[in-house]
Amino acid sequence: MNGKVAVITGGTRGIGLAIAAWMLEHGANVVVSGRDADRLNVALKELTQDGGSAAGLVADVTRREDAERVVELARERFGRLDVLVNNAGITRDGLILRMKDDDWDRVLETNLKGAFLMTRAASKAMVRAKSGGRILNIASTAGAMGNAGQANYSAAKAGLIGLTKATARELAHWGILVNAVAPGLIETDMAAALPTDARDALLAQVPLKRIGTAREVAEMVGFLAGDGAAYVTGQVFHVNGGLYM
Ligand code: NDP
Repeated sequence: MNGKVAVITGGTRGIGLAIAAWMLEHGANVVVSGRDADRLNVALKELTQDGGSAAGLVADVTRREDAERVVELARERFGRLDVLVNNAGITRDGLILRMKDDDWDRVLETNLKGAFLMTRAASKAMVRAKSGGRILNIASTAGAMGNAGQANYSAAKAGLIGLTKATARELAHWGILVNAVAPGLIETDMAAALPTDARDALLAQVPLKRIGTAREVAEMVGFLAGDGAAYVTGQVFHVNGGLYM
């Protein structure tokens, strides 16, 4: 990844932060975004403590202007954009019978529309630069198999897989490869927020019998961003200990 520039939305904690750290370790320049300024500053301190080349911006993926500002920051600071990781995501769980309109809307806006806004802004910059690129969408096992209590989240992540395939077809012409990585149960704030019984029920279905780490997701994202994956596009890669096959 030497000299490459990667944007990671929601790169301030959890899986996004692990992806940013992986990219820096492998020689990339990194731009991370998130909504919370304090969390962003803590993440930037952590990412740059060993001399890593990272910049960050308080930006909400659901806002078009913010998406464009994040891409602009990558070009201003590092002169180019090679990799976009659409990682920012939220949950607002509840059974469909009781789900509020706002819980549906917020999850779809963040997890699906946010990826659309970022993909449009980033792919414009990549097409203009004529240098190809990689787009990685962080989906979820829920988008493939569905999770009870997560109709909004499962729908958004299934939509993200459709977005991945459609954009892979459109952007292949410009050498931009688009893939999805679908994590299972991964140890982050998001998984910690699951009720214990829901978490235990999921864990009981994992053949590898343990929760995954953010680093294990980052390894897959890193591979797909690198030269080894030059003939891979429009695919979904599951990192889930066998939870879904
Ligand atoms: P976390 O809740 O730990 O982190 C989410 C990150 O996204 C934070 O940096 C958060 O920062 C940022 N974020 C949330 N909303 C927005 C927004 N509107 N605009 C910009 N940034 C935003 O989640 P994980 O690390 O666990 O999840 C990362 C991705 O992986 C998500 O897409 C999630 O759906 C997916 N995933 C996670 C799994 C798990 O078990 N953990 C399983 C399967 C998929 P801030 O709050 O400051 O905005």
